[in-house]
Amino acid sequence: MSLSNGRAYLAIPGPSVMPDAVLQAMHRPSPNIYEGELHDLTASLIPDLKSVAMTDQNVAIYIGNGHAAWEAALANVLSRGDTVLVLVTGLFGNGWGAIAAGLGVQIETIDFGAQSPIDPDRVAAHLAADTEGRIKAVLAVHVDTSTSVKSDIAALRAAMDKVGHPALLMADCIASLGCDRFEMDAWGVDVMVSGCQKGLMTPAGISFVWFNAKADAAWGDCVTNYWDWRPRIDPAVYYQYFAGTAPTHHLYGLRAALDLIKDEGLDEVFARHAQLARAVWAACDRWGADGPLSLNVADPDSRSHAVTSVGIGSPLGDTLRRWCESKCGLTLGIGLGRDPADGYFRIGHMGHVNGHMIMGALGTIDAGLKALAIPHGSGALEAASQVIAEG
Ligand SMILES: *Cc1c(COP(=O)(O)O)cnc(C)c1O
Repeated sequence: MSLSNGRAYLAIPGPSVMPDAVLQAMHRPSPNIYEGELHDLTASLIPDLKSVAMTDQNVAIYIGNGHAAWEAALANVLSRGDTVLVLVTGLFGNGWGAIAAGLGVQIETIDFGAQSPIDPDRVAAHLAADTEGRIKAVLAVHVDTSTSVKSDIAALRAAMDKVGHPALLMADCIASLGCDRFEMDAWGVDVMVSGCQKGLMTPAGISFVWFNAKADAAWGDCVTNYWDWRPRIDPAVYYQYFAGTAPTHHLYGLRAALDLIKDEGLDEVFARHAQLARAVWAACDRWGADGPLSLNVADPDSRSHAVTSVGIGSPLGDTLRRWCESKCGLTLGIGLGRDPADGYFRIGHMGHVNGHMIMGALGTIDAGLKALAIPHGSGALEAASQVIAEG
């Protein structure tokens, strides 16, 4: 018998759960795009987008998903024939590198595997060997969603500074913004990209590029009029924010989402994600005490607070996901980019999630392990609820 009727929970690492406040804000007729409320609302987003990234610099909005922001960021600072260093901790590092290659940029890659963060010392050694200053930018993914590996971006900047390399530091925070602490200015990040459908809780369709004066000065010949970030941050007329018609309803939705973050407080948002993540890890540790299940990332400091990748052996990742969805209405993330993909699943715990949702997701997984007779250690739910019970 299926128990899936009721409110479904999409526990994948983006798109994330949409708050009712976001849905309600979007449920409205098209606004006047020439003047009035929409113009004021758009202007009001800019300071709040800068605060979630902890920057006083610039932010440009693009109509497009995270891939669009990847391309926009690169196109504005690079010229054909330039070289970038791509740091890979999962599928998304390679994805961003492929966008650079498509622009006619040379890529050098350091691959840290699927279970470890960026090693700043290896990056420093690579940059130190670049005595001609060939490398124009370093591309780092803060949280790689495919592996749930989180890297220390401040330590990466420190390593770049130690060897005195002038490359721009570009960070992908698509999976981490509004979930894991990220401080663009304090950490010395020159360019940062994110999307709206993960920690920012808005349906997929708009994305953002934050950049500082150093990045703006790098300006390269890859950029075309549409992707140029300058008119978007300083529009002489309203349509230049978006190089065309505004994504009207996304803007209303995003306004509501940023208000939720503001009302809760960014530090509280980070703390909530951290505690919920610890509950997920506590359950996984107990399940893994017996049987095939294990957390993908061993060191808690290198684990995302927004998504958790779990190895369980092929084909049990898919078997368990299917059971959770059809039996209980819980959709888990696939083993994206892993080999074999059906040996993994991912739990998305980003954005609009709270204690009872996480306990429900963990309870469902626990029931799935039992229903499918997958060997597992006991006490997972008790361990998770102990974490939830902390202050
Ligand atoms: C989701 C994601 C992307 C891609 O974003 P799309 O909106 O799917 O284009 C890139 N990088 C990271 C880290 C992501 O989590």
